[in-house]
Amino acid sequence: MRAMVLRETGLIEQSPLMAAELPDPAPGPGEVRLAVQVCALCHTDLHIIEGEIAPHLRPIVPGHQIIGRIDQLGAGVTRFQLGDRVGVPWLYQTDQTCHYCKNGKENLCEHGQFTGYDAHGGYAQYHLVKAEYAYPIPEAFSDEQAAPLLCSGVVGFRALRLSEIQPGGRLGIWGFGASAHINIQVARHWNCEIFVFTRSPEHQKLARQLGAVWAGPSGSPEAAKLPRLDAGVIYAPAGPLVIDALKMLDKGGTLALGGIYMTPIPEIDYQILWSERTVRSVANSTRQDVIDLLQVASEIPVKSEIEMFDLAELNTALQKLKRSQINGSGVVRIN
Ligand SMILES: [Zn+2]
Ligand SMILES: [Zn+2]
Repeated sequence: MRAMVLRETGLIEQSPLMAAELPDPAPGPGEVRLAVQVCALCHTDLHIIEGEIAPHLRPIVPGHQIIGRIDQLGAGVTRFQLGDRVGVPWLYQTDQTCHYCKNGKENLCEHGQFTGYDAHGGYAQYHLVKAEYAYPIPEAFSDEQAAPLLCSGVVGFRALRLSEIQPGGRLGIWGFGASAHINIQVARHWNCEIFVFTRSPEHQKLARQLGAVWAGPSGSPEAAKLPRLDAGVIYAPAGPLVIDALKMLDKGGTLALGGIYMTPIPEIDYQILWSERTVRSVANSTRQDVIDLLQVASEIPVKSEIEMFDLAELNTALQKLKRSQINGSGVVRIN
């Protein structure tokens, strides 16, 4: 099969992903094989490729927002039939035996494995996954529209829920890439009043189009005049934003950090955390998060801005993502 493979981590500007021909994989017991249609870009791909979170397998095929059609069934699979359209997200599999799994927190599993990190991912013609970790995709979405929901959408959705924003509440969003532009639509659906903090004029414009009441740079004099926020989500991997966001947060408010990676958070004066403000990180997602997000996204229905790329252009596409030059989500066409 055709695939884009990472052998050694390196800066994306050096185009470390290489086109390769790998053996066609065959599904083991309980697994299904997908003929991959599309795979959406995620910032985590960049963190893996550049070694900020080093991949557990090398060489590795990255990519973890996969949409494909099942073209082979392993022994014992009854959940799906040949031809079914399914998605595969970042959570590849869990042990189901550790105390996190037993308490509904499989996102924190002691032996959790992740797509395109512990196992080959979606920038390839075929993908293998255990049937219980693949999800039927609602008819409301085309392949291109569905793919960004699987990580940008889902992990961003978990961050939104963990921010404890209530319907009608005042929400701040920092960073306006793929996660934010999907989840602002969910927050609007919950009638939240949304303030978006981003430097990019294109991202500010998209945020207003999607219903933000205010969009502008974080830490600006205009931002300082805004009302206090009930909750906030930081989708950008920049630690200093935590301080900006805490200064905007009302007493008792929660700030959720939606990224797998963040630059160091500077020292803070206790006063900006005082009055029961909470800062929490968000790690991965559970299978239930995927099911719930696909459900709410199809009710709205969420519409992603999409920029399409061919598999051979993957390095270039990820370079654009790194420079924040993709408005919405980047999606790679495979078959
Ligand atoms: Zn576990
Ligand atoms: Zn991701």
